[in-house]
Amino acid sequence: MPKSLFLYNTAAAAKELFVPENDPVALYCCGPTVYNYAHIGNLRTYIFEDVLKRALMWCGYGVRHVVNITDVGHLASDADTGEDKMEKGAAREGKSVWDIAAFYTERFMADIVSLAVLQPDIWPRATEHIPQMIALVKTLEEKGFTYRTGDGIYFDTARFPSYCDFARVDPSSLRAGERVGMGEKRCATDFALWKFSPADSRRQMEWQSPWGVGFPGWHIECSAMSLAHLPQPLDIHCGGMDHIRVHHANEIAQTEAATGKKCARYWMHGEFLVLDKGKMAKSGGNFVTLSTLKERGISPLGYRMFCYTAHYRTPLTFSFEGALSAEQGLANLRKVILSIDKSRGGGVNIDYVDRALEPFADAICDDLNMPRAVAALWEGLRGDKLSGAEKLAFVREADRVLGLDLLKTAEDGGAAAEVTEEFNGCVITLTASGVLPQSLKDAIVERAARRKKAKAKRDFGAADKIRAEFTEAGVEVKDMPDGSTRCAVGDIGLAERVLAGD
Ligand code: AMP
Ligand code: ZN
Repeated sequence: MPKSLFLYNTAAAAKELFVPENDPVALYCCGPTVYNYAHIGNLRTYIFEDVLKRALMWCGYGVRHVVNITDVGHLASDADTGEDKMEKGAAREGKSVWDIAAFYTERFMADIVSLAVLQPDIWPRATEHIPQMIALVKTLEEKGFTYRTGDGIYFDTARFPSYCDFARVDPSSLRAGERVGMGEKRCATDFALWKFSPADSRRQMEWQSPWGVGFPGWHIECSAMSLAHLPQPLDIHCGGMDHIRVHHANEIAQTEAATGKKCARYWMHGEFLVLDKGKMAKSGGNFVTLSTLKERGISPLGYRMFCYTAHYRTPLTFSFEGALSAEQGLANLRKVILSIDKSRGGGVNIDYVDRALEPFADAICDDLNMPRAVAALWEGLRGDKLSGAEKLAFVREADRVLGLDLLKTAEDGGAAAEVTEEFNGCVITLTASGVLPQSLKDAIVERAARRKKAKAKRDFGAADKIRAEFTEAGVEVKDMPDGSTRCAVGDIGLAERVLAGD
């Protein structure tokens, strides 16, 4: 159901009607620095970007989506000082930088898949774009935007007078702090385009360049990769809030100085996931990953649901309790969808479905307001104006943006976690929103098989007793026409307490 999409544009500091210039829409998202696992804060940003992409597609746009992989040259501080994060990761694990990059890139991609984030069209790697970066620095040099210091080639921000406009910073406040840690830089906002390898040691990743052996600055990577794979200006450029002040300000300066064209027309930034104690940072070590969540019974899609409890431009405070309650909310949603009777109330009148979707669509088109969209989904499921088939069509449409795999639940009785087991000749399928502990799986499968045997022997008393246990444990049992049994676990914690003696 196409609608007018309004998005908050950081560049305009306002919500604006989205009107693309490119077909497909050119969407560039800053990707991960692959020296460690992605933490769930990083993943919040990729979920927000995925909702954006899904919303664009839902509104009828084609999308060309590029997410870079920073596998070199991201120094510990935005000011181009400190250690290279990749080399530091390699030293920590006693592996080569290339191995570290390959390992964490693969882990990141697996996380993305489990969160149902749609794959970008291209995952360009920084290490595969060194010639493009060198060419871009050369262009900047030829146009007079660079200068050389003892440790690298720098961008001269004084030559780009609108430098401070994007982040809306006061240039005089920058001058005040400019003496600290500036080295040979002419101005605090200047940044490295190319860094020289230290004269006394060899780096694992370094390349020849017209200025000597070295490696690219972090910011030039994104300019080079977006120019290599997307038309300029980009329709939308995304990233986390932390990128506005330095990384994106620098990217704009480089790209616009080199090409004379606008870098991007819409800039969108996701707010941070925070811990009670403050920011979750990859470099700080105080981070939670998807594996940590799984150990605590929170599935990737449960975490996705948790992210929908706040608007993407609002900080979201993480707690395991909050995430568990989102997991439970998702399980409840699935239960309701599973109970929709397809045969109730006739066929599908698409106008009714569209009307029911309106509040959901309004929420999405109002700068991706997911808390309102989820509330609208519940509201649509509650009423009885729609037939069963219309309700399923309504869910199907909403899930194109939500990405919660809700329909799988209704169409085949499955859910996020679905396992089929064979036990004493009985085929038993377990479904649950979340990760089922092995002991619970065993307890359910054993009982389901026992119940099946009891029924075969016409011992209905014993069969009913087992069904009563399942009911008490919040597990719905269905005997399928093919002779198998389907057990849907509503609340993993409750089922564990009742069935697995926990
Ligand atoms: P990095 O891998 O550190 O370059 O970060 C990848 C993406 O995650 C970037 O868009 C960051 O802005 C974003 N990010 C970093 N920390 C957080 C956080 N705590 N919450 C949300 N997004 C974050
Ligand atoms: Zn970037």
